[in-house]
Amino acid sequence: MTALTLQNVNKSFGTVEVLKDINIDVDEGEFVVFVGPSGCGKSTLLRVIAGLEDVTSGEVRIGGELMNLTPPSKRGIAMVFQSYALYPHLNVRKNMSLALKQEGQSRQVIDERVKRASKMLNLEPYLDRYPSELSGGQRQRVAIGRAIVREPKLFLFDEPLSNLDAALRMNTRLEIANLHRQLDASMIYVTHDQTEAMTLADKIVVLRDGRVEQVGSPMELYNNPANQFVAGFLGAPS
Ligand code: ADP
Ligand code: MG
Repeated sequence: MTALTLQNVNKSFGTVEVLKDINIDVDEGEFVVFVGPSGCGKSTLLRVIAGLEDVTSGEVRIGGELMNLTPPSKRGIAMVFQSYALYPHLNVRKNMSLALKQEGQSRQVIDERVKRASKMLNLEPYLDRYPSELSGGQRQRVAIGRAIVREPKLFLFDEPLSNLDAALRMNTRLEIANLHRQLDASMIYVTHDQTEAMTLADKIVVLRDGRVEQVGSPMELYNNPANQFVAGFLGAPS
C-alpha cells in the first residue's frame, strides 16, 4: 500500500494557481525529497498534505484513505517546520509531551515515548531546560522529537535545517537519515539544497512553478535529467 497518493491536486489562492495537477506517490517507508526553487509551491504542497490547506481540486490519500476532509490531527502525520515553533514557557520534556497529553495518552505511555525519542536525539541531558537555554541545533532536535513521540506513519519536514550553520546542518542531516532507518515511517522532506536532496532521498520530486517537473532516484535524475532545469538544479553535467 502507498503511504501517500496525491491525484490531480490543484490549489489556488484567489485567482493564483499555486499547485497545478500534482500527481505523487510515496511508498511505505520511503524517503521522498521535494526540491525546487523558492516560491515553487513546496510549503503549500506540504500544507495540503497535512490538511492545513484545503485542495481546490484533486485527491489526498494517506494509507489508501481519502483525507480531503480529514482534520490535520486525524491524518496520522507530523510536520516539522524550519522555525522550530517551540513553546518558550515549557521545558523540553513538556514541549515533547504536550501533544500526547492532549491526545489523552497515559502518563506511562508519555514517559516511555519521551524517553525513547530523547535517547534517539541525544536530548536526555536537556529535558529540564527551556528553549531559550538551548542552541539552534538542540531546538531543532526538540522539534523533531515532538513529531517522533506521536508515532506518525508519515513525517513532513519543511526545510528543517535552513536556520542552522553548515556543520550543524550536516550533523542533523545524518541524524534524520538515522531516524528514518530506525522508525517505521515514510518521510517527505522539502529543501532547496541539492546536497540534502541527493544524499537523503530514495526518490526526488523536482517541482517548478507549481508543477512536478521530474520524479526519480537521485542517480536517475543525475544521469538522465529531463531538461536543463532539472540538470541545473541537481548540479548534473549538461
Ligand atoms: P516555497 O515553499 O516553494 O517557497 P510556497 O508554497 O511558500 O513556496 O509559495 C508558493 C506560492 O504561493 C508563492 O507565490 C506564494 O506567494 C503563494 N502563496 C503561498 N501561500 C499563500 C497564501 N496563503 N495566499 C496567497 N498566496 C500564497
Ligand atoms: Mg517554503
